[in-house]
Amino acid sequence: MAKGRFLQFLEGYGNLIILFLIICIVLGLLTFIILLKDKGKIQRLMYKDPSMDIWNLNYLIYHGEKILRSERRKKYAIVSVNIGQFRSYNLLYGWDMGEKLLEYICSLMNHAIDPKCEIAARVQGDRFVLLMEWEDWEDFLTRIRNFQNKVQKSIFNLTENHMPVYMGIYALREEDEDLRSAVNYANQALGVAGNNKNNEIKVFDRSFEKKLREIHEREKMLDKIEIRGHFVAYYQNKVDIRTNEIIGGEALVRFRDPMKNGQIEAPGYFVPYYEQTGKIVDIDFHIMESVCKMLRKRIDEGKKIVPISVNFSRLHFMKKGFPERFEEILEKYGIDKSYIEVEITETLMIEEMMQQEMIKSTLDSLKQKGIRLSIDDFGSGYSSLGVFEKIPASIIKLDRSFFLNQEDRERQIKIMRGIVMLGNELEAQTVCEGIETEDDIRIMKEIKTYIAQGYYFSKPAPQAEFEAMLDEQELAFSS
Ligand code: C2E
Ligand code: MG
Ligand code: MG
Repeated sequence: MAKGRFLQFLEGYGNLIILFLIICIVLGLLTFIILLKDKGKIQRLMYKDPSMDIWNLNYLIYHGEKILRSERRKKYAIVSVNIGQFRSYNLLYGWDMGEKLLEYICSLMNHAIDPKCEIAARVQGDRFVLLMEWEDWEDFLTRIRNFQNKVQKSIFNLTENHMPVYMGIYALREEDEDLRSAVNYANQALGVAGNNKNNEIKVFDRSFEKKLREIHEREKMLDKIEIRGHFVAYYQNKVDIRTNEIIGGEALVRFRDPMKNGQIEAPGYFVPYYEQTGKIVDIDFHIMESVCKMLRKRIDEGKKIVPISVNFSRLHFMKKGFPERFEEILEKYGIDKSYIEVEITETLMIEEMMQQEMIKSTLDSLKQKGIRLSIDDFGSGYSSLGVFEKIPASIIKLDRSFFLNQEDRERQIKIMRGIVMLGNELEAQTVCEGIETEDDIRIMKEIKTYIAQGYYFSKPAPQAEFEAMLDEQELAFSS
């Protein structure tokens, strides 16, 4: 009886029931698709870089640790990558161009790895981390070097800018399971690598921790050290290659390390740290003062003097008062302003975009006072001719890299010739830095510029040696 009623019900409402079932299935499917999409979205948020087509560090850690657990017999390394001078490129060419370049670098990173067993991730900005597999260590290093060169060349082809690629590597040991620590070690190696104008690779090893401790100790010592007595000026000649006459010099700071029995250390040992702490400002004025003392002494002795250039950190131009302090020191020793030149690097205007107005007004006021500005290392980074508009320079120092670069020599020479001609137009003198060989001298003559500074003539020397060279020349040129 009940069965008959049920069949009757089905006959009466059959279509409605089928419709109801179809709606339920469609709704179920829709919910499933939305959930799937959300899961995709969530996964994307968790594991993909927010703006580029590449994994993020979370993914590398999470998925990488899974790989390590499942492929215990294979060897892996973490490679941290940083693109040198990217910050300047971004500031110089704008955010959009910076993003385009980053997209391109991401694609290079993605292509460098085997996606089946390796991972490329972006940490932030121009920082990347790769999890890579290796069998033979030397083969692996060759692979990394080739990749590094490829990245640098590709960036140059795209942007016409030489941007060094720095890499820090940590080779995972069998017992390493924690990729965060591995990334940390690779980053520490990268920290040591990224201080140079050229590509660099540093491999982390256990002695590295000791090295980092030493750096820490050194920084503590540098914090405490008194400037007077520990920082001295060395001098390097600037020579007219037509006559071999010393026509000037550059003062280069040196540190007498009390922890090493007064051993002399070059600026790489302490300048980057003092640029961070700000102490470089007082050291630069101390060097200027040493130069003025030396000139005063020679004037009083009736001896020959030449203009000396002094390096000034970009930090001086971040605040007011530089021209005043500069003039005070000149006055104290009674030195004419034509005898001290101010060397600043060409990147000053690029790196400090936010402070351009203030820097420009300081530089203009120096120029008005008749103080000679020298653009150091011109051509080493982002040299744009706009620099001349912003820095009213009397001297342009062509960077050593022009002479080092053996690739496409003809093109380099054409560029240098162009800069020399522009210098002439602007009534600025060009000085060639890092002149080491006969061939460098030949190139200088070819591009018609004649003031050289480099090991070919002399290395930076203590004051007494520099003075002796000046005395010798005075005799030679007067007789
Ligand atoms: P810079 O001002 O471009 O100085 C030239 C550097 O090139 C010096 O290195 C010099 O020793 C080196 N050099 C000169 N001729 C040759 C050559 O023929 N071949 C090679 N390979 N190198 C050559 P140094 O003395 O180690 O100074 C390095 C940098 O440290 C300087 O580069 C400058 O940027 C900075 N610096 C030096 N003294 C001071 C200072 O008193 N204050 C500040 N703020 N920075 C300084
Ligand atoms: Mg210099
Ligand atoms: Mg230089």
